[in-house]
Amino acid sequence: ADAGNAENIKAEQIDGIAKKHFPLCMRTLHENLLRDHHLKHFGRLQYGLFLKVLGVSIEEAIVFWRKSFSLMTDDKFNKEYKYNIRHSYGLEGKRANYAAKSCMQILTPGPSDHGCPYRNYSPENLQTALLSTYSQQGLRAADLPEIMASVKTQHYHVACTRVFELTHSSFGVGRGEGISGENVTHPNEYAARSMELAR
Ligand code: SF4
Repeated sequence: ADAGNAENIKAEQIDGIAKKHFPLCMRTLHENLLRDHHLKHFGRLQYGLFLKVLGVSIEEAIVFWRKSFSLMTDDKFNKEYKYNIRHSYGLEGKRANYAAKSCMQILTPGPSDHGCPYRNYSPENLQTALLSTYSQQGLRAADLPEIMASVKTQHYHVACTRVFELTHSSFGVGRGEGISGENVTHPNEYAARSMELAR
C-alpha cells in the first residue's frame, strides 16, 4: 500500500491535496490541525505516516509541521517535535521503516482523535461532516441514506468506498468500482487513487 511514494509533494501543496483527495479520517486530522494548530500524539503519528507514504519528504514534512504548529516557539518545536517527525521517517532511534496505518488498524477502537469517523462519529455528526467535506465534490444529501445504511451495519470501509465512488463519478468511477475494483482498505490507497484519477 505504498502507492504514491514518489510524488515529492511540497508542504504548501498539502492543504489543496487534502481538500481534493483525502478520505474522511485524514481530512478530519488535517482540519483539526488547521483549527487547533496542534494535534495530539496519536493523531500526529497517524497523519505524519500517512503524509510520508503519500509522498511528502522529510524536509517538506518538517516545514509543514513547523508551519502548522504556529503557536509554538522554534525552540519547543525543535526540542519536542522535530525528533519524532524524523523518527517516523526512520531517521532516528532504531531507524525503522514505519508503515502508515491501514483502515483495519485505524478502525480498532482507540482515542477518537485518530480513529475512523465512519465508526466514531454519531450518525448526525457524520452526515454533517460528510456534506460539509464532500458536497463540493458532488456528494448530495440524497446520497446519505445509502452511506448510513453501511455505517449502521458496521461496514465502515464500504461507506467510505461509496463516498469515494460518489465523489469521483466525474472521473468516470461508477458504482461498485471502488478503489481499482476493491473496497478501501488503506487511507493511502484512497488518496493515491484519487490523485491518479485527477492527473
Ligand atoms: Fe479512513 Fe479507512 Fe475510515 Fe475511510 S474507512 S475514513 S480510509 S480509516
